[in-house]
Amino acid sequence: MSILTPEWTALLYLVSAVCFILALKGLSSPRHARRGNLIGSAGALLAVVTVFLSVKLENIPLILAAIAVGSAIAVPIARRVQMTQMPQLVGGFNGVGGGAAALVAVLELGHTDDPWVRIAIVFTMLIGAISFSGSAITVLKLQELMTTRPVLFPGLRWIMSIAVLASVAAAVLVVVTGSWIWAVALLILGLGVGVLLVLPVGGADVPIVISLLNAFTGIAVAASGIVLENVLLVVAGTLVGASGTILTMAMAKAMGRGVTGILFGAFKGGSTAGSTELSDRPVRSSSAEDVAVQLGYAQNVVIVPGYGLAVAQGQHTIAELATALEDRGVHVVFGIHPVAGRMPGHMNVLLAEANVPYESLKELGEVNPEFKSTDVVLVVGANDVVNPAAKSTPGSPIYGMPILEVGDANQIVFLKRSMRPGFAGIENELLYDPKTELLFGDAKDSLSQVLAAVKAL
Ligand code: NDP
Repeated sequence: MSILTPEWTALLYLVSAVCFILALKGLSSPRHARRGNLIGSAGALLAVVTVFLSVKLENIPLILAAIAVGSAIAVPIARRVQMTQMPQLVGGFNGVGGGAAALVAVLELGHTDDPWVRIAIVFTMLIGAISFSGSAITVLKLQELMTTRPVLFPGLRWIMSIAVLASVAAAVLVVVTGSWIWAVALLILGLGVGVLLVLPVGGADVPIVISLLNAFTGIAVAASGIVLENVLLVVAGTLVGASGTILTMAMAKAMGRGVTGILFGAFKGGSTAGSTELSDRPVRSSSAEDVAVQLGYAQNVVIVPGYGLAVAQGQHTIAELATALEDRGVHVVFGIHPVAGRMPGHMNVLLAEANVPYESLKELGEVNPEFKSTDVVLVVGANDVVNPAAKSTPGSPIYGMPILEVGDANQIVFLKRSMRPGFAGIENELLYDPKTELLFGDAKDSLSQVLAAVKAL
């Protein structure tokens, strides 16, 4: 029996929708992100409770069991996940959302003869299945359980075209016949298209694809709202679809890429090249004391943080080092690349955690002209975002991505553990540049040693 009247249900859905909008607003700045997250969670909880109180549900014990199992899996994962593994987590949860929307749509197939509803069903199934399998591949890539480089094989373009055409044909057959067999075929084809779509994407483009798949899930959920005649699902799905699309466009722009170029660029044979073989050419390795002298007696220093800083959790030490240098009269700024780290805004969040003032953070376009007058660039756990191959090597997976032009500075110091490459898996010529020095070791340890040496100057 439903406890709430339709009017109360509509009102509570409206409150939930407002919560989702406020959540997005809050998430637009690190300062309010926590609050935004809480408001969004409260909106989702209210929506679920409203469903329980307004719809005549069958199988309530099964629904509660599913919620319990889902929570028992998700809560410990979300609590334990490292900051650097957040994109995998988001990718995984996103895929599950798309998959759930697809499954709900399949189940609704038996409840309708309306061709318009069936169109919404096949749309949800196809997009949800693509989002599920595509997200699974991005999780494998990000977790480095498979190669992060584009995966291409002969005939991929043809197989992809056939899979897309077959999906459209299966979708039409489901709409016309309502047959389960075609529905299962559509789901399998959708899963295949998702895999084929993401396999050829490599290197620096993976983050953009996560965001795109997130938009796909939103659209699938919105379509499932039409199937279930649930306005809130339409609103929430549309919000996710729209924000995911805006983020995808913004990231693609920051990377100097078109979205179609990211998805289909590798088909043209564009982004698979680049050396994976590491050369054994000599490099200039340095000591913490030498680095401290260079930094301590410089006028202008730019610090370029990357993924390795997040791995080492060296944000507090780097903030201390910046302060120690400023106390000596050195002008210090941080150069922030839009895809440094492993999630959008990763470096901003990391440095905000260590109370690095916002004014010290300079975006790519702002800091690049400054490198020519920079005495020392300290590259801490960053690699792809400063790799000149993005400009000089047309076959490289990062070709075309704007980089931080640290090569323009007088001196470059890299803090990293080894000669291993970054996420894109390609060698960085800058490491062999005569004006480059390397301080090998974990970023936090190296930063602590440099800090101690700067204080001792
Ligand atoms: P990279 O992955 O290119 O390089 C990271 C560097 O950090 C490596 O050279 C590694 O070398 C070093 N490193 C790792 N751990 C440590 C440690 N504990 N101490 C010191 N150094 C360490 O990072 P960037 O930030 O330059 O580039 C980000 C890359 O990730 C781009 O290709 C981007 O496209 C991709 N990406 C970005 C996402 C985003 O949204 N920001 C999401 C997904 C991928 P070594 O092992 O020798 O120490």
